[in-house]
Amino acid sequence: MDCKVFDTIIIGAGLGGIRSAQELLKNNLKICMITSKDFCSGASFYPGTWGLGMVGPKNEEDKKDLLENIIKVGCKLSNPKLSSILVDKVNDEINLLDKQGINLKKSVDEDGVIPCFDSNKRRWFGFDFKTGKDAFYKILDNENLTLLNKSKVINIFNEGETSKGVLIEKEDKSIELVKSKSIIIASGGYTCLFKHNFSLELDSPIIQYLANKVGCELINLEFIQFIPAYMKPMYKTVFNERVFKYITIKDKNGEDILKDVNDIENLISERSTYGPFSTRLRSNIIDKILFKYYQDNNECAYFEYPDNIEGINDTLIYNYFNWMKESKKDTDKKIYITPFAHACNGGIKINEDASTTVNGIFACGEATGGVHGADRIGGLSTCNALVFGAIAGKSASKYCKNSTFKDFDLSINYDLKKESKDYSRFKNAIDEIRKILYNKVSILRSKESILDAKNEIRKIKENTFNIELSTGDKAMLESYIEFSFILLDHMLKQGKSIGCHCRVDSQTK
Ligand SMILES: Cc1cc2nc3c(=O)[nH]c(=O)nc-3n(C[C@H](O)[C@H](O)[C@H](O)COP(=O)(O)OP(=O)(O)OC[C@H]3O[C@@H](n4cnc5c(N)ncnc54)[C@H](O)[C@@H]3O)c2cc1C
Repeated sequence: MDCKVFDTIIIGAGLGGIRSAQELLKNNLKICMITSKDFCSGASFYPGTWGLGMVGPKNEEDKKDLLENIIKVGCKLSNPKLSSILVDKVNDEINLLDKQGINLKKSVDEDGVIPCFDSNKRRWFGFDFKTGKDAFYKILDNENLTLLNKSKVINIFNEGETSKGVLIEKEDKSIELVKSKSIIIASGGYTCLFKHNFSLELDSPIIQYLANKVGCELINLEFIQFIPAYMKPMYKTVFNERVFKYITIKDKNGEDILKDVNDIENLISERSTYGPFSTRLRSNIIDKILFKYYQDNNECAYFEYPDNIEGINDTLIYNYFNWMKESKKDTDKKIYITPFAHACNGGIKINEDASTTVNGIFACGEATGGVHGADRIGGLSTCNALVFGAIAGKSASKYCKNSTFKDFDLSINYDLKKESKDYSRFKNAIDEIRKILYNKVSILRSKESILDAKNEIRKIKENTFNIELSTGDKAMLESYIEFSFILLDHMLKQGKSIGCHCRVDSQTK
């Protein structure tokens, strides 16, 4: 197999991957950035939202308070050293975006915004996709950067300290091996495992599984955030929780689905302050009712926006409706909503220098776990990608600087197949896994539902054991099945409700 050799391979071209590339290029290293999509992709450039909120401490004194809140909101399951680095470096990263000419949206209130789950106002900015892309595309002129787009990573190899490799499947289904001294994993989360999700990564293997196979430890996988979003019209459009207090959610007969809930006014008021479902707050009953309604009726509850909703004086409502208007999204119709898998707080375990448990493999952004814990303060996921992207780039540069690439032959023999004769069975299996995980273990989990999910996926494994698939499809199916088992075991082990992990068969921790 022909093979190209680089100092570092970066898997992913979202904010984490791009930020790490900038640091490696500063150090004149030869890098290969691989993405299944295009440069500037992933959740970092999700087209179904207005932009991405980013938060930081208001000043030096505010750092301590923000850190305490991250740890509290994360239910003490974040790694405080990582959270502290995030708080320390986030403002520098946001300022750097500004210096690169990226148009950062400002908060309406000069004092900042209280991010979701937080208790105090913070420095707030909105990341703008268009000017972000304009600024980042400049790095593609650097001859030390090779971009392999529309190329799926289907396997990772760790054949020695400075002998790494990844196998990719290109758009024409040809397979290529790329080698390097080090790898940075910036491949985002694994929300694609759930039927309703915001993932744009629906046809690639789960990188966390491939990383785990070569020895990268995984942590906090059970902490996956779900937020209400549009089922129709405009499937996968983000809902803005701030409007909860201005709408009535109705069933198919036009009845308010929350009418029998005690103390609903206070609960709605609380629910308007945060996006993702959380077991820490009483108002999570609203998400549970929304989800149960969908489960029981196979259709979603709906609402209609009141007139002049966009005129409300709130930074987040203002930006949201501005974007809806600009992108010509129709807000006059009935909007049907249900919880969607949105972001992952768990993933590959990293140290303060973004190194993983495998020498020479680094990771950053949503692919990792430990920066946030069981729940995450809103606006810190983009910041995580930027801060730890930069750190991963610096660490990989250091790792590569004084070392020599050692060539290797693959220890595994590959049967390279371009065609999936049983493609429809493969597609059905993937769809089934997504349905099982969404129905049984999205926002409501119990020992019984987790074990049911495991059993059903085990049956899929048995039924697809011998099907004829291309090398890429085979790798993807294996990753979906095996990573589901790992994920379900994490959910099973975490026997109590904590943060965004809800065990309906236990008391809240
Ligand atoms: C709708 C939505 C709204 C959000 N809003 C906010 C917000 O307001 N504030 C906030 O802080 N966070 C928000 N987030 C989360 C935030 O956007 C992400 O956590 C962050 O951008 C992740 O960046 P990343 O670089 O780690 O990964 P991503 O941006 O997801 O990039 C992943 C990259 O990896 C590539 N990849 C994955 N698998 C493979 C493979 N097998 N082979 C090749 N390439 C692969 C993808 O193509 C992509 O290029 C939001 C997320 C969504 C979906």
